[in-house]
Amino acid sequence: MSSNQCIFCKIVSGEIPSHVVFENDFVKAFLDIFPKTRGHVLVIPKKHYSDFIECDDQIYIEVMKVVKSISKVLKKVFACNRVVVMIEGYLVDHLHVHLIPTMNPSYAKRKQTKASDEELRAVCEMIKSNL
Ligand SMILES: [Zn+2]
Repeated sequence: MSSNQCIFCKIVSGEIPSHVVFENDFVKAFLDIFPKTRGHVLVIPKKHYSDFIECDDQIYIEVMKVVKSISKVLKKVFACNRVVVMIEGYLVDHLHVHLIPTMNPSYAKRKQTKASDEELRAVCEMIKSNL
């Protein structure tokens, strides 16, 4: 897929709105609108890379620094045991890291349903106010 048709590139540019929890020059972090658990965040490089293997090392490090700092906040805000960090990439061909606050391994079997705007706004605020 070319980057000008990529849904995550459109989120980076703001063409598609998202619930942004953090962004800097290299990285954008926003809520998954189909959360696996409450507080499910996606962290992506602003530049289009298909996956982490082809990603520039410095950009990869920038992404992972944000992954770590947001995970700390998720652990505090959602009082979870673990934050699952996962790079999968089957649905969108733009490197993205899932951060999923979990209490136990059963999270993997949970059905993902679309969260309401109100819920996403509330979760976004909970994370942003602790970053
Ligand atoms: Zn992209």
